Amino acid sequence: MTTTSEPRIITLGTAGGPRWWADHSGAPRFGIATAVVVGERWYLVDCGDGAGHQASAAGLKMPDLGGIFLTHMHSDHLVDLPSIVLFGAFELKNRMSGPIAVVGPGDRGRLTPLSPQAASTPRAVAPERPTPGVMGLFDGLFAAFATDINDRIFDSLARSPRDTFDVTEIDLGAVSGFDPDTAVSPPMEPIEVFRDDLVTVTAVLVSHHPMAPAFAYRFDTDLGSVTISGDTAPCDNVVRLARDTDLLLHEAIDLDILAAQYTDTDMLNATMAHHRRSHTTPADAGRIAARAGAKRLALHHLVPSYAHPEVWRDAQTAYPGPLTIPDDLDILSFARSVQPASAGV
Ligand SMILES: [Zn+2]
Ligand SMILES: [Zn+2]
Repeated sequence: MTTTSEPRIITLGTAGGPRWWADHSGAPRFGIATAVVVGERWYLVDCGDGAGHQASAAGLKMPDLGGIFLTHMHSDHLVDLPSIVLFGAFELKNRMSGPIAVVGPGDRGRLTPLSPQAASTPRAVAPERPTPGVMGLFDGLFAAFATDINDRIFDSLARSPRDTFDVTEIDLGAVSGFDPDTAVSPPMEPIEVFRDDLVTVTAVLVSHHPMAPAFAYRFDTDLGSVTISGDTAPCDNVVRLARDTDLLLHEAIDLDILAAQYTDTDMLNATMAHHRRSHTTPADAGRIAARAGAKRLALHHLVPSYAHPEVWRDAQTAYPGPLTIPDDLDILSFARSVQPASAGV
């Protein structure tokens, strides 16, 4: 049972991938987004499809939003950010505390390398800024919605979203060895990316090749900690970040069900190689949790979302601790008193 005084996460969406997803029974699973709730405040990690609506359904209020943390620039993690920023502004009119922090990756710096299988060179979109980070994302969002935003600022005297959100790109200056093409997750100690009176948030680079930079986040509070892997292949940096964490939320992919969709062997091999480099099987997620000594493991960003719930139980082969496969809008405590570690190996 989770009481309202316990620090907890609410799974706003648990599906991974750029589609409108359903689970094995056909019920919708919304896109990846997680609320970290501490006291009266909540923090949003990723803004997948439906995040704003789901936050509202969970009873989370925009004036209580303490920060937004974006793991990487894939659209399944960002697509509902416009609704949070533009619709959320109406709830924020009378917010007295300062702007809401938005933390995420900086610009990739150069275009993703062209696949060796490419027959010709495609034309990049937005060639003047083809790989923006979160600052470029907000600039683009404001530009795309300028007519609406300016209408409201000038006619309704609304507060500008530029003054409502304070966007920061994670500085990798102190991290040695990072290269977006060849070394997306060099070994590193967690770096602090945010702190207020309730939480300290640290981050590491993860292995979501060729998407880079991509981050995992950990929230430490007086009462417990939660670590969210973001999208990643099995990654030692996640083990480091999640050391003894009270709850690890790790992404998971079911390769078998994906493999069954391909009849062309070359395509199958290429697709499987890509997924293995960028994502984590349930068994490997269990291994990561066990190595980190995580007190509890939950799998989310389920790919594909319609895989049978049993396949995710594979995590248990490597992780003897408590395992949860949450549905949307489930509540999981990360209070330190939750279940003593049985997997601290
Ligand atoms: Zn994703
Ligand atoms: Zn991704």
